[in-house]
Amino acid sequence: MFKNSPLYSIVWNKCPRCHEGDFFVTKSAYHRHFDRMHDHCPHCGEVLTPEPGFYWGAMFVSYAYYTMYTLATFFLFVSWLKIDLDYYLAGLVPTLVLLTPYFFRLARRTWLTFFVSYDPAKTRLSVGRS
Ligand SMILES: [Zn+2]
Repeated sequence: MFKNSPLYSIVWNKCPRCHEGDFFVTKSAYHRHFDRMHDHCPHCGEVLTPEPGFYWGAMFVSYAYYTMYTLATFFLFVSWLKIDLDYYLAGLVPTLVLLTPYFFRLARRTWLTFFVSYDPAKTRLSVGRS
């Protein structure tokens, strides 16, 4: 995937500023501490938690991901493969529960990427941290 693209940091759990440092502490979304984030990027020092309550907006991004997933699987299984709606719904609910940690992390990375653009030269460590 293109390293200059904002999608790079969203998909690969990287800081949106430098695309090098990890965003979350754990690599896997299915770890006991899946929600632990670095306060600052371990590579460039970018603030990953700008202010208290910043990630409330990520809740709406998460909702969008759930909606896209639900619509995509609906059209795939019900409209295209003609699977009965009851079977589809019985399979949908467990997958949504299983995808919760993944969408949680994906939504937070997406939300911060709205506000922080890729610019590896403009790092906090290069200008000095106060
Ligand atoms: Zn960084």
